[in-house]
Amino acid sequence: MRSTVSFLIGCVIGATAILLYLTETQRLVSAAPVAGSRGRPVAGSPGIAVANEPLIIPVEGITADHLKSSFDESRGGGFRVHHALDILVPRGTPVLAAVSGTIRKLFVNGAGGITIYEFDRAEEKCYYYAHLDRYTNLLHEGQVVEQGDVIGYVGTTGNAPANTPHLHFAITVLTPSREWWKGEPIDPFPLLVQSATTRASAPR
Ligand SMILES: [Zn+2]
Repeated sequence: MRSTVSFLIGCVIGATAILLYLTETQRLVSAAPVAGSRGRPVAGSPGIAVANEPLIIPVEGITADHLKSSFDESRGGGFRVHHALDILVPRGTPVLAAVSGTIRKLFVNGAGGITIYEFDRAEEKCYYYAHLDRYTNLLHEGQVVEQGDVIGYVGTTGNAPANTPHLHFAITVLTPSREWWKGEPIDPFPLLVQSATTRASAPR
């Protein structure tokens, strides 16, 4: 008799354990973030925080209709192609992190002046901000930044004309070795316009 009761209790405990396990598994599966291949956000699901979030325009107070593509323009007396976007705004306008990521390199050189190289979280692309007047206080290499954080201020350092303060903004697709000075340039203009349009039409 006692062994029968023990057997029945054992069955109940076992069944409960299996049920709990299945419930937990289902909960974990349904809690997984909605994402397409390689972690890209699924179209139509804005606001999901993943590595490849839509860009924001990296200058405070600027809308997409203020932008003009200059990716294919020649520079340096026709000796090179621009491969970037110039955003003309008053000196001292805050420069914002276009994506969340890491400040990979702070670099000062003759052409770009005071510059920032930022990697996105997935380290797929590098975002380059040049001709800055200065960095924001305490900005340092290795610093993790969120999209929209102020990282510097617009200026004319490097070879920018003294009377034309602007942000020179470039994006490169990094190589597998992920060096900040290497990569394939892509045009920021359509990406910024597209993400601005997506934001404007997204439900709030
Ligand atoms: Zn430029």
